[in-house]
Amino acid sequence: MIPDQGTLLPLCSRCQQRPRRPGQRWCQPCANQYKSQRYWRLKTEEGGAHDVIPAPSQAEKPIGLCRLCGMGAWFEWSPNTWRCALCGIRPAL
Ligand SMILES: [Zn+2]
Ligand SMILES: [Zn+2]
Repeated sequence: MIPDQGTLLPLCSRCQQRPRRPGQRWCQPCANQYKSQRYWRLKTEEGGAHDVIPAPSQAEKPIGLCRLCGMGAWFEWSPNTWRCALCGIRPAL
C-alpha cells in the first residue's frame, strides 16, 4: 500500500493502485491508456458508417487500360498488385 500520500488522494477507480489525478477519477497511467484506446477506436470508425468495417485492401484499381488487350479488366493479384484478367500483365505506372 502507499503510505501517507495515498491517504491524501483517493485511489484510481480503475486500477485501485495509484492515487488519482486531482479532479479526475483515474491515475495518470490509466488515463493515458484510456486515451490511446479511445484514439484507436475513433481512428477505425472514421472510415465510414459505424457498423461498416473498412475493406482491408487500400489498393486502387488502375484507371488505365491494358496495353496488350486494351481492356480495363484489372483484378487484384495480391495486395497492392493488379494484373490484367486477360493477359496477366501488370498495369503500366
Ligand atoms: Zn489507475
Ligand atoms: Zn490485358
